[in-house]
Amino acid sequence: MISCVNLTKKYLENNKNEITVIDNISLTIKTGEFLIITGPSGSGKTTFLYLLSGLETPSIGNVYFNKQDINEMSNKQKWQFRQNEIGFVFQNYHLIPTLNVFDNVCLPLLIKNEKIDIEKVNRILSLTKILDKAKSYPEQLSGGMQQRVAIARSLIHEPKVVFGDEPTGNLDKNKAEEIMQLFKKINQELKTTIVLVTHNLNHLTYATRIIELANARIIKDVRV
Ligand code: ADP
Ligand code: MG
Repeated sequence: MISCVNLTKKYLENNKNEITVIDNISLTIKTGEFLIITGPSGSGKTTFLYLLSGLETPSIGNVYFNKQDINEMSNKQKWQFRQNEIGFVFQNYHLIPTLNVFDNVCLPLLIKNEKIDIEKVNRILSLTKILDKAKSYPEQLSGGMQQRVAIARSLIHEPKVVFGDEPTGNLDKNKAEEIMQLFKKINQELKTTIVLVTHNLNHLTYATRIIELANARIIKDVRV
């Protein structure tokens, strides 16, 4: 589904020294995988995730989504790719405070000018266990609940892949486990491919494949 070939990302540190954050990585992610990317802080996890999802552009190398090079897409194709094929979940939820849960979840559809199918929205709210919170506002919800809303929003357009950058990073142990269980359910029931970054080693048991990054390279790649 997603692959990268000789992927390299370099940044200028303090506008002078060039640092290599992703160093010549090639990888293929298959449909249906639950991939966890782990590794120490600064090892390049976020950058790698952003490159794979097209939020960052590579310095060298290519990223393919279903054989199409995402960095060769026209602006319109890129929009369509983001609006139809992928979902994203962040550590800090990034909900719109002035919209209630239902409207936050529907936002990707509103942006696409797509008609809201209330039953479909309710199915997603039910799957993510926030149906009873549909009229609540983000500030009325716990962090765990807010992340459920963000996950529902990432699913509403039925993407093929959901990316998550430390989605449990702000949650306590039990809430974090619940969120990981939810990702597992999404992977198994909706067959959505999941690519998550975490440095919580307790969460590796949820993955079907674990990749460990260190110093901008993959040092371990195991299927479990
Ligand atoms: P991780 O998510 O594993 O903590 P990151 O991908 O965020 O790692 O960062 C890897 C390295 O790249 C770090 O040294 C970071 O300072 C550097 N870096 C990340 N983004 C930028 C940027 N936009 N400009 C310069 N350096 C960056
Ligand atoms: Mg990071």
